[in-house]
Amino acid sequence: MTPLETLIREMIVETGPISIEIYMKLALGHLEHGYYTSKMPLGESGDFITAPEISQMFGELIGLWCVAVWRAMGAPRPFLLVELGPGRGSLMADALRATKIAPDFLSAIDLHLVETSEILRRSQRAALAASGLVPKWHTSVEDLPAGPMIIIANEFFDCLPVRHFVRGVDGWHERLVGLDGTGQLCFGLAPGPDPGLAMPGEPGEVLEAGFAAMHVMAGLAARLAAQGGALLAIDYGYDGPPRGETLQAVQRHRFADPLADPGGADLTAHVDFRNLARAARASGAAVHGPVPQGEFLARLGLHERAVALRKRANARQCAAIDAALDRLAGDGTAAGSASMARLFKALAVTAPGLDVPPGFEGAA
Ligand code: SAH
Repeated sequence: MTPLETLIREMIVETGPISIEIYMKLALGHLEHGYYTSKMPLGESGDFITAPEISQMFGELIGLWCVAVWRAMGAPRPFLLVELGPGRGSLMADALRATKIAPDFLSAIDLHLVETSEILRRSQRAALAASGLVPKWHTSVEDLPAGPMIIIANEFFDCLPVRHFVRGVDGWHERLVGLDGTGQLCFGLAPGPDPGLAMPGEPGEVLEAGFAAMHVMAGLAARLAAQGGALLAIDYGYDGPPRGETLQAVQRHRFADPLADPGGADLTAHVDFRNLARAARASGAAVHGPVPQGEFLARLGLHERAVALRKRANARQCAAIDAALDRLAGDGTAAGSASMARLFKALAVTAPGLDVPPGFEGAA
């Protein structure tokens, strides 16, 4: 048993079952034993791979997106360039390298990274050393200073904890993590219905609520509406009515039991884009998209960028570029395709009145 599991069991014995939100928060963010705080989650030897780790093209295109948005904002100097959950720092390193063609943009950047993990902060520092910019780190979005800003969040919102409610005859009962007869962690339900949830539902239906993600989005959208700027969120998720439960654990590139190894496996939930968009609009910001990642990257010029890279690549590198193209934006028909093009979506949130950001032209 991991030290974190011991700690969670003790907590439950002392004060009773805990919500999935608290379980996720502990499993991912516990300062000593949490998943993100205690290990290197990303890469071949880690548990999962993300778009910026698949290809440099991803970060480069997002860098150019930032330049276009900054110009649309009236090119403020300085402005805050913010990344939420920068992982190994690859996206930002690729973005900054690509924006060398816009020295006025580069010299206006005040770089801020929101990251809870010390291990990942170290990777980020190393990855960004060549950029010549010195980032400032924050543990929470609340700590970001005021000012016009461009915020990038790739696979950040999916790490924020969710709550589950199960429909019973008398209302919605919160799903909790407790202990079974043998002292193992298990799921159960709160005995009484949640007084705050009044919407109808079918018996047995599960409602997954990303209140934490909506709270973060509401706060950032209010800043953008008041101080100017834009946010780009890319994540896997759905745009439509709630889908039921999507909580998942991933360990060494495979799905795992979410309760089996708290702190040892990544826990995420699909992002509910409709509710995120709602939270942003309610804070006075404008919303664009979501659009499927494949479409978004194609509009930013992914295929043109691949052609340019291929020109100075050998055969092996060309094959890697083609594989990356398929993974990031393929139509899913290639043999063995693990395309992210449709499951992943891009959403932009901007100050009202800002031009439609690149990649979202014609999106609702
Ligand atoms: N954006 C990167 C990494 C995605 S993994 C990429 O695409 O490769 C999720 C990132 O969010 C990690 O850097 C993780 O440490 C960070 N993170 C997770 N929960 C967080 C929280 N509550 N606050 C700040 N950072 C968090």
